[in-house]
Formats: sequence, structure tokens, C-alpha cells
Amino acid sequence: MVALCSTCNKERAALKRPKTLEQLCRPCFFRALEDEVHATITSCRLFRAGERVAVAASGGKDSTVLAHMLTLLNARHGYGLDLLLLSIDEGIAGYRDDSLATVKRNEETYGIPLTVLSYRDLYGWSMDEIVREIGTRNNCTFCGVFRRQALDRGASLVGADKIATGHNADDVAETVLLNILRGDAPRLARCASAFTGAGGPLPRVKPFKWTYEKEIVLYAHFKRLDYFSTECVYAPYAARGFARDLIKDLEASAARPSAIMDLIHSAESWTVCLGDGGGDGGGGGGSDAAASDGAAAAAAGGNGSAAAAGGGGGGARRPRSCTRCGYLTSQPVCKACLLLEGLNSGLPRLGIGKVKGGRGSAAAAAGGGRGRGAERAAAGCGAQGCGGGGCGEVGAAAAAAGAAAAAEAGGRAGRPPRRAAVIEFESEGATR
Ligand SMILES: [Zn+2]
Ligand SMILES: [Zn+2]
Repeated sequence: MVALCSTCNKERAALKRPKTLEQLCRPCFFRALEDEVHATITSCRLFRAGERVAVAASGGKDSTVLAHMLTLLNARHGYGLDLLLLSIDEGIAGYRDDSLATVKRNEETYGIPLTVLSYRDLYGWSMDEIVREIGTRNNCTFCGVFRRQALDRGASLVGADKIATGHNADDVAETVLLNILRGDAPRLARCASAFTGAGGPLPRVKPFKWTYEKEIVLYAHFKRLDYFSTECVYAPYAARGFARDLIKDLEASAARPSAIMDLIHSAESWTVCLGDGGGDGGGGGGSDAAASDGAAAAAAGGNGSAAAAGGGGGGARRPRSCTRCGYLTSQPVCKACLLLEGLNSGLPRLGIGKVKGGRGSAAAAAGGGRGRGAERAAAGCGAQGCGGGGCGEVGAAAAAAGAAAAAEAGGRAGRPPRRAAVIEFESEGATR
């Protein structure tokens, strides 16, 4: 007997949703996924009418589906957004050149203007050249730091108010796990947020925060979207891959089939109290990103500032301009410039804090003596488009971090997050 779609009870079911195990026909699956993304956009207040939004477009499935869905939802619900595509050419032969061709086709398909910025033009180095210099061990650090700044530069170039990235629930769960492994408490507090950096010039949003990667793939497949599916040639060397495998194993097991949702909920529930080791030298610590996220909390969460006041700890340091490139940073010289200095001086490990003493220790330069903190900042949260300084740098003030967590929880510190309750219901019975 042919199973009917459990939503419309008319069409034949075409798939079983990985997230809910519902049997759905294609149109009902599309609508369910689109409605969930719309719910994330509205409940997390990701956009405001009239905003110019740069969609970080890599040509991969996530950003392609994001461009498609934002175009569709913008029209369906009248968000009033001015959408743009922004691509970064890292200079990885056989990977980025092919994926950029996909983005160019998307530009025509969706009628959204595309801007491409290259590492070569911005920094004088392509990723292939950087890997030839440093090997495959720390290359994702360089790529993450450079990509983040390149996206910021591109977004300001096209006059964007905000950057939307295709981070999905799997990415966010991996980032949570990586930050636990690194003991990076400040980032733990905000890496699961769908909205970061509201106090800075270019806030970032993740409309797919609650969307499973498998469902994005199904959506792209059934809608026959044009995307590029080869993984970055350097990705197998990233620590993220190991976190991903662990979560996949947990999901496949009977022990924790809801591992992805559970990790995100866990990160949202934590209130991070930074002890002596968490900040960059005590009360005066904090970072530009922390300051931004604190502001994000206040803006997005209503009484996030109250949580900030109650969070105690150090006050966030005011963001300042990098003395070399002029970009926003918490330190005199930004991370990208430090990495670049290492590359240009033939000491590529300088900027990632691996050179001890002498020659101006990178760690000291980066963090005013923060030591390991700078190294951890360089490592980044590792998320797609979110490298060192990605979710912000190490050393966030407890106040800002607490506020960010409060904002994501709906701005009601100490009470269960409203959105989380909905998701828990949705993920019930997700027993893959
Ligand atoms: Zn149906
Ligand atoms: Zn700089």
C-alpha cells in the first residue's frame, strides 16, 4: 500500500523527514522547511524591513538553498529585504573556481547581484600559496580569519546592513562541541546564537540554525537547485571533521539520535561565568565581538542588558580600528594583519601564536600577553565562514556573553527559551 503524505493526506509520500520522521509529499516537505526557516527569522528577529542583506554565497548546498529560500520567503512574507550575493574567492584551484561558476549561475537564476572578492586581491596571497607556505595543519585558521574579514569588507563595499550565512543545525552543533573541547567558554555562550554582532557595523544571521543538513540536501535535490557539492580540498585536515563524525555516530546510535538538537539546546541553556582563566586578564577584558554580541543581546532580547548587569565580571572593551588595515578589532592590530605579517616575514606560524618569545611573540602581540588565548582565538569556531575571530575572539566579558545567551533565550534570563520549547516538540520522536 502506498503511504500518503501525513500533512495533506492526498499526495503520495516522497520522503521521510530526517528531523521528524513524518512521511511527506514533496510540496508539503518544501512548505514545512520554509515555514520553519520563516519561524526562525521571525522569532529571532533576524531582519528588519528595508535592510540590504548580503548572502554569503559559496556555491555549496547551504548557501544556494539560503539564496533560494530567502528570495522566496522575502516575496511570500513581504520582508522588504534587498538581497545580494557575496562570494569570497580563496584561491583554491579545482574547488573555488568551480563553485564560483555555480554562484554566477545563481546570480542569473535569482536575479540577485553578485560581488566576488579574492584573498589574492585583498591580502596578496591565495589559499593555495598559503598552504604551500605553511602546510595543511593550520591552513583553516588562515582561511577562517581571512574569510571573515573578506566577507565584512565585501559587505561594506556593497553597502549591506547585514550578512546572512548558510550555517545549518549540524554546523552549529559541531561548533558547540568544538568549543567544549577547546574549553572556550566565551564562544560557547554565543556560538549557538542565530544573531550575532548587532552592536557592530555588520551583524550576522543564521536563518538555518535549526535546519538539518540532510533536509537542506533533500530540499536542494528535490527542487533541482544548481549547487556545487565537492568539499574543500583542505577540509579533511580540519578538526571540525572529527567533531562531525562523532555527532554523526551519536545520531546513528540508539543512544542519542537527537544529538544535533541536544547540543544546540545545551549551548543555549548555559550561562557562562568566566573565572580568572576565561577573560584576557581580568576585569578590563572583553573583545570587540563580545561587545557586539552584548549589544545584540540588548537589541534582540529585550532585557538582555539586565542580564548583562547581573552577569558580573569585566566590562567589554570598546571596539577599535586596526592600526594597519582599519578594520574593527579589540586589539591594536587585528588577527588578519598578524597572520599576514607572519606570512610576509617568512614566519607563518607567528600569527597563530606558535613562535615563542623573541621576534615579538604573536600571542603577546595579539592579546597583550594573553598567551594561549590568542592561539585559541586563531583557531576560530571553525564554522563555515566563521574562523578565528569568527564568533568573536577569546576573552569575552562575562557580562556580554551572559547577555548574548539571555538574548538567544528570548531575553528572559532564567526562564526556558520559547523557541527551544517549540523545537523540542518538533524533534520529539526524531529517532533515527
Ligand atoms: Zn502533502
Ligand atoms: Zn588589520
